[in-house]
Amino acid sequence: MKRFSAALLLLCTACALLSSGCSGRDAAGHSTDFFAMNTAMTMEAYGDGAEAGLSVAESEINCLDALWSVGNSGSEIVRINAKGGELCDDTLAILKEALEIYSITDGAFDITVYPLMKQWGFYSGEYKVMTGGELSELLRLVGSDKLTLNGNSLTFGEPGMGIDFGGIAKGYASDRAIQIFAENGVESAIVSLGGNIQVLGTKPDGTPWRIAIRNPVDENVPIGIVSVTDKAVITSGGYERYFEKDGKTYHHILDPKTGTPAQSGLSSVTIVCGRGVLADGLSTALFVMGKEKALEFWRGKADLFDAVLVTDAGEISITAGLDGFFSSDFDFEVIR
Ligand code: ADP
Ligand code: MG
Repeated sequence: MKRFSAALLLLCTACALLSSGCSGRDAAGHSTDFFAMNTAMTMEAYGDGAEAGLSVAESEINCLDALWSVGNSGSEIVRINAKGGELCDDTLAILKEALEIYSITDGAFDITVYPLMKQWGFYSGEYKVMTGGELSELLRLVGSDKLTLNGNSLTFGEPGMGIDFGGIAKGYASDRAIQIFAENGVESAIVSLGGNIQVLGTKPDGTPWRIAIRNPVDENVPIGIVSVTDKAVITSGGYERYFEKDGKTYHHILDPKTGTPAQSGLSSVTIVCGRGVLADGLSTALFVMGKEKALEFWRGKADLFDAVLVTDAGEISITAGLDGFFSSDFDFEVIR
């Protein structure tokens, strides 16, 4: 089951916040809405290069989508997953990002979850609950340490292995969009790629962008608002895509160590970071880690990113860098 409501809420929230805040300066704003990477996307940019920047960024994202769509038989990822082979520059670049995030997260982020995702039915929609025996067979095919990169050529250590960039593709794409805007002279922009937000500069009126963070249990009441400039704000949550069987819910973020949907006690993780690709990878990884490990990880990398964690019990924690930049009607603790 693919749910778009989550994405649309953030998207609308971002737009509402945007339009309520652009009265200060008379900057020409342009926007585009389109569908790519299985989700609704919207981008807004301000200034002289806005129209050109939006058009280039949109085609660029469509190109990345065509490369990495596991459901498109002509895509580069489908060719690679059949038997490895040569990667184009963007695929090589995102693969290197993925391997770096795998390494710093101790394998919580692992693009080789592909065979697991496939057997759980997340690509076809024909869902199936995996049993112990099937899982241990599949787990032999999981582990980015079984990938060998020689120049731009990728080899899999086991037949049947494959890779899935679903956990970082949108972050890579939003980085690219922001970079294209900057190259076109845009100084102020916001993109929402399925609810994953990244902003360039401030709002046109010179104030920070205000981004609503979705409440995992109530789409209508955000858990809070972060004020950001030049940042990505990317959320992973089990509510984004899931299926139900015999009264149990199975979502699309897998723990690569067990092969099953991560049940770490977190219901969502939002990462605030200067780089979209890192924010996206870390949001998936910290969701898998659970609160305690995630905070320990953050303490070692506090200069790199901040996070908002929501537990299954509804407790909200923000890391210290967001203190003063996060507002909420709910109680929250600041982690230092
Ligand atoms: P969304 O795509 O809903 O924004 P995420 O960024 O968390 O959410 O990415 C989830 C996707 O990442 C899954 O659909 C799958 O393609 C892939 N994935 C699932 N588990 C992992 C994992 N542990 N490491 C890397 N990628 C994963
Ligand atoms: Mg992610």
